[in-house]
Amino acid sequence: MTGSMLASGLSGELIEAFRAEHRGDCFTPSDDAYDARRALWNGMVDKRPALIARCAGVADVLRTLTLARDAGLPLAVRGGGHNVAGLALCDGAVVADLSAMRSVRVDPKNRKVRAEAGVLWGELDRETQAFGLATTGGIVSTTGIAGLTLGGGVGWLARKYGHSCDNLVSVDVVTPDGVLRTASAEDHADLFWGMRGGGGNLGIATSLEYRLHPVGPTVVGGMILHPADRAADVLRFYREFIPAAPEELGLYCGLLSAPDGTPVVALIGCYHGPLDDAEAVLAPVRSFGTPIVDMFQQRPYVEMQSLLDAAFPAGARYRWRSSFLRDLADGAVDAIVEAAASRTSPFSAIVLEWYGGAPNRVSEDATAFPHREPQFDLIVSAMWMDPGEDDLHTDWVRRVWGDLAPYGSGRVYSNVVDRGEEGRVREAYGAGFSRLRELKERYDPDNMLRYNHNVATAG
Ligand SMILES: Cc1cc2nc3c(=O)[nH]c(=O)nc-3n(C[C@H](O)[C@H](O)[C@H](O)COP(=O)(O)OP(=O)(O)OC[C@H]3O[C@@H](n4cnc5c(N)ncnc54)[C@H](O)[C@@H]3O)c2cc1C
Repeated sequence: MTGSMLASGLSGELIEAFRAEHRGDCFTPSDDAYDARRALWNGMVDKRPALIARCAGVADVLRTLTLARDAGLPLAVRGGGHNVAGLALCDGAVVADLSAMRSVRVDPKNRKVRAEAGVLWGELDRETQAFGLATTGGIVSTTGIAGLTLGGGVGWLARKYGHSCDNLVSVDVVTPDGVLRTASAEDHADLFWGMRGGGGNLGIATSLEYRLHPVGPTVVGGMILHPADRAADVLRFYREFIPAAPEELGLYCGLLSAPDGTPVVALIGCYHGPLDDAEAVLAPVRSFGTPIVDMFQQRPYVEMQSLLDAAFPAGARYRWRSSFLRDLADGAVDAIVEAAASRTSPFSAIVLEWYGGAPNRVSEDATAFPHREPQFDLIVSAMWMDPGEDDLHTDWVRRVWGDLAPYGSGRVYSNVVDRGEEGRVREAYGAGFSRLRELKERYDPDNMLRYNHNVATAG
């Protein structure tokens, strides 16, 4: 290789030649915009890739893959950049950054949508809601559709319509051998199986096609806040109420702080069934206890999908721990309440989610997303702004996780697995782990795609 060698092993000439043929923009450490392009949602993640290739289309993705392979460099893939573990980037890697691939095509007649892999949930919802349609997506509008769907994808619509991966009809995938395949139930069915829950282990999704459902456009949603000293009662109410509630209601329970810093317990939810039934469905939630405030109201589904955005600002510092729970018995309730009371940041929270319904009617081996038993999902989320407080808040997470982990069921949703949890890959993929590993050997024998919850290196 001639010319000035960069620390990465990519020569300046090689990069210039690549740039000249690349339709999207490219960024190296010497570019002014490099730092902005390598910023991720979790401000704690500070990765310095050798080259960020912002791809404008599949041809750019193919060339980026070839560059990484020829240079013998690892390849990272960036969708929405929201992953808490910062898996979208890696030090010294070539990054296929799909964030410029944003087209969405809705087919209202057949109730389907095809979206490129850089699309964010707010964008997909906006396009599909123009036709009164939606598919299950994340509840923060700036999350990427690709990373979320490939890992499973939970959201307000899941109880009724299944997870995001359950609504995937087909996916265009560039596999590490440099071939573009359209995987669906009919074609490359094994690859399709692995792309629905296996994360980015097998290939780079360049576009995703989803089934759509009539939703809204008006739904009834919001949150109800109770005083923190009622947290145990509210959790017990949630435990009894949500498993029996209609599947058109998605409801989470969070122990968090109000905007003025007051600790509260919140019931946060979205009812997307017939509006005439909303009052009756929500009556038990709204009449329980003595809330501080009830903000449930009719609102556009698109608004509902961005209601929580401000609570998760990009660039803040985050540390998560999570597990599905064996149950939410009183011992777990008390431990959760105690853990929440010891929060060291008003922005930190402990959240419980429930997905009983359509996801449980899919068999455990139908997709690589294996968590099909109705179980409460527990998420401990620490958030703060000041890097000087890193130890304080990460210590809190470590401490409370020591108390809460024993209530876990030995299962975890891969999309919320954070740094330092590499040992949980088998927990994340469950019964599908072995099949996923076989597919990995077939599609990516050199483990080019390793910045994910990686089945090749898992113990
Ligand atoms: C504020 C917030 C709210 C969230 N809410 C939800 C929620 O409601 N429901 C839910 O299920 N999850 C939720 N999540 C978790 C979310 O699913 C993960 O963070 C997911 O990884 C985000 O996808 P992304 O494309 O934005 O991430 P990225 O960080 O870009 O990528 C994450 C992983 O996916 C891989 N990847 C991304 N795009 C592709 C692609 N096109 N092909 C192959 N691999 C790819 C990356 O290489 C990386 O390993 C939330 C996360 C945050 C931060």
